[in-house]
Amino acid sequence: MMTVAIHPSVDKGVKPGAENFSGGTLVCHCKDKPVKVSVGTQSAHNHVCGCTKCWKPDGSLFAMIAVVPREQVEVTQNADKLKIVDEKAAIQRHACTGCGVHMYGRIENKGHPFYGLDFIHTELSSETGWSAPGFAAFVSSIIESGADPNNQDAVRARLNELGLPPYDCLSPPLMDFMATKIAQASSVLKA
Ligand SMILES: [Zn+2]
Ligand SMILES: [Zn+2]
Repeated sequence: MMTVAIHPSVDKGVKPGAENFSGGTLVCHCKDKPVKVSVGTQSAHNHVCGCTKCWKPDGSLFAMIAVVPREQVEVTQNADKLKIVDEKAAIQRHACTGCGVHMYGRIENKGHPFYGLDFIHTELSSETGWSAPGFAAFVSSIIESGADPNNQDAVRARLNELGLPPYDCLSPPLMDFMATKIAQASSVLKA
């Protein structure tokens, strides 16, 4: 049986993150005048994502995406090439108009549970040591991008084999985190 390709960064096995890793530079795919984004810290909650909104490398079933505090993200070169993909989306994805790569996703709604965190694709950096992906989110959603529904068992089996437990939303800790923030905002729970 052919191995299911998930994402180039995990297909040969998930590489562990490095201790004391302190960030790096994300570079878009443009040969000429690439956009560069400096990230001043280690990433957190890295995972592969099957949703239709995250940027995926060509031919990849999944995206790989992590978060960092927004204060740690700074566009250092060719910022003029960036454009927000969808201004109305909760996560505003700043993409390069030259190559289409998403450089960072930012939440401007202060009431959003993930406000304060930017979403980044650590594979855009040549530095090694970023936090390793730990689960697969929105696995059913790959079908919405054209994946064969009959192949889902093989996809989930491969994700489990790679140590990336598959979920059809975010992971239980992140879903609990979001629900807690929402319950605090509505005063159901004390903040
Ligand atoms: Zn580019
Ligand atoms: Zn996604």
